[in-house]
Amino acid sequence: MMVSVSAEIPHDTVLVGIGASPGIAIARSHLLNRARVVGIERRILPAEVDAETANFLAAVEKSKAQLREVKAQAADQHAEHLYIIDTHLLILEDQLLINDTVELIRAELLNAEGALGRTVRQLRQVFDSIGDEYLRERRTDIDSVGDRLMRNLLGEIRENLDELAGQAIVVAHDLSPADTLQLDRSKVLGFVTDVGGRTSHTAILARSLGIPAVLGLETVTTQVASGEPMIIDGSAGTVLLNPSPATFRDYLARKQRYEYLEKELIAYRTLPAETLDGCRLALRGNVELPEEVAVAREQGVEGIGLFRTELLFLAGSAPPDEEAQYRAYRAAAEAMAPHPVTIRTLDVGGDKFVPELNLLDEVNPAMGLRAIRFSLKEGGLFRTQLRAILRASAHGPVRIMFPMISGVAEIRACRRLLDKAREELVAEGLAVGSDLPVGIMVETPAAVLVADLMAREVDFFSVGTNDLIQYCLAVDRGNEHVAYLYEPLHPAVLRALHQVCAAASAAQIEVAICGEMAGEQLYTLVLVGLGFTELSMNPAAVPRVKRLLRQAAAAEARELVGRLLVLPTAAEVVSALKAEMNSRFPQLFDLGQP
Ligand code: PEP
Ligand code: MG
Repeated sequence: MMVSVSAEIPHDTVLVGIGASPGIAIARSHLLNRARVVGIERRILPAEVDAETANFLAAVEKSKAQLREVKAQAADQHAEHLYIIDTHLLILEDQLLINDTVELIRAELLNAEGALGRTVRQLRQVFDSIGDEYLRERRTDIDSVGDRLMRNLLGEIRENLDELAGQAIVVAHDLSPADTLQLDRSKVLGFVTDVGGRTSHTAILARSLGIPAVLGLETVTTQVASGEPMIIDGSAGTVLLNPSPATFRDYLARKQRYEYLEKELIAYRTLPAETLDGCRLALRGNVELPEEVAVAREQGVEGIGLFRTELLFLAGSAPPDEEAQYRAYRAAAEAMAPHPVTIRTLDVGGDKFVPELNLLDEVNPAMGLRAIRFSLKEGGLFRTQLRAILRASAHGPVRIMFPMISGVAEIRACRRLLDKAREELVAEGLAVGSDLPVGIMVETPAAVLVADLMAREVDFFSVGTNDLIQYCLAVDRGNEHVAYLYEPLHPAVLRALHQVCAAASAAQIEVAICGEMAGEQLYTLVLVGLGFTELSMNPAAVPRVKRLLRQAAAAEARELVGRLLVLPTAAEVVSALKAEMNSRFPQLFDLGQP
């Protein structure tokens, strides 16, 4: 690529967004018109209601046909990602979206586009109020479907991505998962957008397709024209406009190094997760839908360490019944066999709001009726979930895990209900597995303090550091004003992890970690040294963590932890750890990758 000098943009102008998919791309920009179309509201006459309704329903059908076409085209190469398109097809069946729009046309005498705009805004508000980042980002799916519908309603023609003349970095206001799936990898070297977050489906797809992407740049479409030279660094979340020759050379070298290391990573997928001195760990995946298990498997996971079940409850207008849950858990178990799938019972409340469940409006939801407290109080919903999990355990190795446990009494209450559900199923003649290991999430300081007592009552622990850090340090995990205090390596957190691992080891039960810390290679040696036997993470992080693990010895990791445990502040722990990792693995830590 020639480096040209743009008249308006100074050399090396840096834009910072969200690094949604790692990797470096160097190319010219291609501006794609994906501005959100807004439906203008207009009053209609009663006589126009039928025609407007018919227009709307025709747009729904057209949108479905387009998505089916995307599915058909992608079926060969990207079969494991098609569930995302299925999610969009399901949204097009959603009663709230379709019926409410039709009802608005009729009752409020609104034109179809105006009515659609209002329903999409309402649905979006519901998702905006969700604290949990992953669940909140499902709003981007609503946006994509709403946008497709609106364009079809207005008869707009979308520029097709396969019309790109040469290699380029796509610059767009937003890209839908369908757009992303259709990207021609030989031409689109990366993409950047104004909106979007790390956990949107577009970001997830970009990561698993290996396309570098920086999202959430807010105004990139107004800052860049087509044909401008640019560099994107999807690991750092930066975009460089009009790179100088020196920057260009620097990034070319970084890109080559990155690609070399990535190629090397592929080999790690099938290698055992074992340290140099023979300490074998289970590297498992965190998923939210059974369809994600196939993608996780490709990354070399040996089981699912955390199947979050909240998303299943968000999909429809009512909580899923026993049959629907049974099918989902069974599909996950069958897709992962012979490795286990750890199903976590519903963890709602706190930052995970599920509109269909009419949760209480609490002043302090993080300490309120959330997770296991909600399940034990509510009863019926919990019984349904326990039955579905027990039935799924007849089809593959399944483990059950209870969230937010703070004492032995809660474990015993859960076990009693589990035993009762099992007896009922057996009496009804339904198949249940003979072995269903029971575990708990260690997420509260109380659980840490009584870990020795709880270790006698369960088969395994799984530490949820996302919550444990929040409760241990009294720092709201989603509050940006105290984000600087959210320190995974705070001595209090390190001591808590140490205590949990010691209790598990004394009772000879497995101890896993499934918070975000598990997937960051900076922490890998610390976790091994503390004595974790399982690390469960975003599946895409597995090869990277495994590579590090295979280059280190557990004895050295224990020695490192011994040194870190006596340091008095988080800052000192961080700098000692970074110095150690940088000197031992310089090539793995010089790219700003976590
Ligand atoms: C955690 O708290 O670390 C965890 C894995 O659970 P969640 O993020 O779903 O609360
Ligand atoms: Mg948690």
